[in-house]
Amino acid sequence: MPSPTAEIISIGDEMTSGARLDTNSQWLCQQMGELGIVVRFKSMVGDSLQDNVDVFRIAASRADFVIATGGLGPTADDLTRDSLALLVDRPLVLNAAALSHIESLFVGRGREMPASNRCQAMFPEGAMEIFNPRGTAPGIDLVVDRPDGGQARVFALPGVPAEMKEMFIATVVPRIVDQIGGQRRVIRQAIVKCFGLGESDMEARLGEMISRTRSPRVGITVSAATISLRITAEADDSGVCEAMIAETRREIDVLAGEFVFGEGESCELQHVVAEILQRRGQRMVTVEIGHAAPLAGWLADVVPRTVYAGGSIESSVDHSSESLRRRLQAGDADWALVVDRYPTLHTDDDLVAELLITLCGRKEGEYWQTRQRLGGHPGILHARIGKAALAFARSVWLRSEPSGHETTTPQPG
Ligand code: ATP
Repeated sequence: MPSPTAEIISIGDEMTSGARLDTNSQWLCQQMGELGIVVRFKSMVGDSLQDNVDVFRIAASRADFVIATGGLGPTADDLTRDSLALLVDRPLVLNAAALSHIESLFVGRGREMPASNRCQAMFPEGAMEIFNPRGTAPGIDLVVDRPDGGQARVFALPGVPAEMKEMFIATVVPRIVDQIGGQRRVIRQAIVKCFGLGESDMEARLGEMISRTRSPRVGITVSAATISLRITAEADDSGVCEAMIAETRREIDVLAGEFVFGEGESCELQHVVAEILQRRGQRMVTVEIGHAAPLAGWLADVVPRTVYAGGSIESSVDHSSESLRRRLQAGDADWALVVDRYPTLHTDDDLVAELLITLCGRKEGEYWQTRQRLGGHPGILHARIGKAALAFARSVWLRSEPSGHETTTPQPG
């Protein structure tokens, strides 16, 4: 039996005008792929009723599943409900449960529901709701009959990425898996986060592990120099999936363990560093030299004040342990992480940065430095430098050396 197919539709003038990047469809393509569903088309359409009806009609004629995002808000330019009703030539009818949920959201926010929001509880007759726990735009699950006697299933979700993702995982995935019935397999995913080498170097290290025919599959994606290895296991039951994932996880450790720093979609080095500091009951300050201070932003965002005592951006710094320890005393912190320096990025070409990263603790002997040459596109170089500093601090702490001095020089990647 051929694999089911899908089309993803992104709706909104902000996408067709180029004002906003369509990230929803990228994420949905990945998710559908993990379900074993081939995405054959991606479409994008502005806020015009007829264009929306046409796009839905074409998509429903050539894909088993159509996943659309956007156009479910309460305003006149939100046309997804109307276009789906026109597509199947049925009226919009009120879903009382959906309405009472929307009303309860307004009550929770201490506001009266504007009359315009009522339209968000209107569904093409025969459609099912896709519950939206956080927003006022429920999704629409609608089966569309095709002229050829077949059927397509349309899932329309809100455009807001966080709402869309949550609804897709909680409701759409189980419904798709139910529908593909006989082909139904349990699918489990794990994400392993790595830092410290380029995507192609990681690919070379993993070798046959990333072959498309391997089971479980391992996919590589990279975002701002953080590599995500997505392990996808498919089997008849979840226990087998978990065992397959654990085995692949061990193989990754053997092939690239020194670059692995965490697990899970949202895990970044700052979370791992925060967790180590928390475990040790210690606080850190950061000093960033040059033209950026990503560490301060990342750490202030995720780290409780109990472990992050603040950061500064400066034009130069005295790296000596005496000077850094005076800072630690002043800031009532245990560690100073110093990044010297972030270069200017006034070029479109790849850059190479010469770095000196220093980690200094309060105690005698707690002083480590690394010189690194890091290269990359200007769009990610500052992030790569900040992450290199966090990875260095993590590796020092994990080794738990009482004292020492290390120098590493990775090649630009
Ligand atoms: P809501 O009622 O919550 O506004 P909606 O379905 O009407 O939901 P839109 O108004 O189309 O959604 O989009 C809401 C916001 O979601 C947009 O302003 C944009 O920030 C974001 N968004 C919409 N579509 C996409 C997309 N394809 N990729 C990334 N972000 C998107």
